[in-house]
Amino acid sequence: MVATHAERPHALLSASAAHRWLACPPSARLCEQFPDTTSEYAAEGTLAHELAELKLRKALKLGNLNAREFNKRRKEIESHPLYSAEMDTYTDSYVDYVLGIVHSYRVPPYVTVEKQIDYSAYAPEGFGTGDCIVIGGETLHIIDLKYGKGVRVSGEGNPQMRLYALGALQEYGFLYPITEIHTAIVQPRLESISEETISVDELLAWGESIKPIAEMAYRGEGEFNAGEHCRFCRAKSVCRARSEQYLALEAFGQAKPPLITDSEVGEILRRAKALAEWVTDLEEYALQQCLAGNQIPGWKAVEGRGSRQYVDLDAAFKALIDAGIDEAVLYERKPLTVAQLEKVLGKAQYRQLLEEPGLVRKEPGKPTLVPESDKRPAITAKITAQEAFGGDER
Ligand code: SF4
Repeated sequence: MVATHAERPHALLSASAAHRWLACPPSARLCEQFPDTTSEYAAEGTLAHELAELKLRKALKLGNLNAREFNKRRKEIESHPLYSAEMDTYTDSYVDYVLGIVHSYRVPPYVTVEKQIDYSAYAPEGFGTGDCIVIGGETLHIIDLKYGKGVRVSGEGNPQMRLYALGALQEYGFLYPITEIHTAIVQPRLESISEETISVDELLAWGESIKPIAEMAYRGEGEFNAGEHCRFCRAKSVCRARSEQYLALEAFGQAKPPLITDSEVGEILRRAKALAEWVTDLEEYALQQCLAGNQIPGWKAVEGRGSRQYVDLDAAFKALIDAGIDEAVLYERKPLTVAQLEKVLGKAQYRQLLEEPGLVRKEPGKPTLVPESDKRPAITAKITAQEAFGGDER
């Protein structure tokens, strides 16, 4: 029997965690001590992958998927509590992107979905599942669906995609005249598709460059190195290297001049943001420890503020109406926000009924401080000579 998406085993040097173990090799073994807690978001992503796979198999006539089997599996997905109409729209965007690539070839390319890829020649015991592989002409395409809506992932130099490409190249390189690698990370909920195109030689050189790091990671050796990649590390709450990075903040207390410089402000803010994330991780960890009966000196778990709930909403409201309470005071009638309406109507109908007739306007948001890496253009309150005096600025 084929393992479902949720049941698939994970390699110690998994491709999805490669950005972490490449930056901090001993983290791979350290993570083994911690349980893999699958969040609801991950479960939702798994379901979206199952739906996307089903749609691609149907559209490309892959495998023995007849109409009856398709409808049966689709019904199962639709009856899942995490399924939503939105999921259908988002997986359609991914499917459209893949079909766009497939149909760009005059001769039908080779396509496979949910393919187990072995990249152990580069990272010991490394394997993973590629969402979609297309081989057309001299190009090997690796396409990955990411259903999360939290973090935009860049395809530039992305180690997960490159490891999959290395594995696929090893498997198909003998059969197809591949000279170019194209990878794409599709994040439909963020309306983001990030791509990279490199030559086979570049890919192979990168593969050779990471081999010694992967060996070290496999043996649990190398230097701990804290950074942005800690965010997805199972050891992140109690890792000493990470804690030392934040505790180094104290060094700013010894800055000599009475006023800190603007560059120090930038650096302190950068570290403080990461520190706030770490504190949240520590709180979660400490709460779990307290609930498990372990002592975290100075802290304890208590019951949070409760809230009153109707035992039976219908029965409660009927009792109120029977007692003569006006129904109008029992309900609040509020218009949906623009964002909520777009969700209810779907993008196309929203555009047609509200945006095109000019019934929606976009108000500028409040100025917000974000890291320089943010994609939005910078704004400034400084008025230019042109804005102040009008006319041409010469
Ligand atoms: S938390 Fe960061 S520094 Fe610590 S093991 Fe994980 S990746 Fe390495």
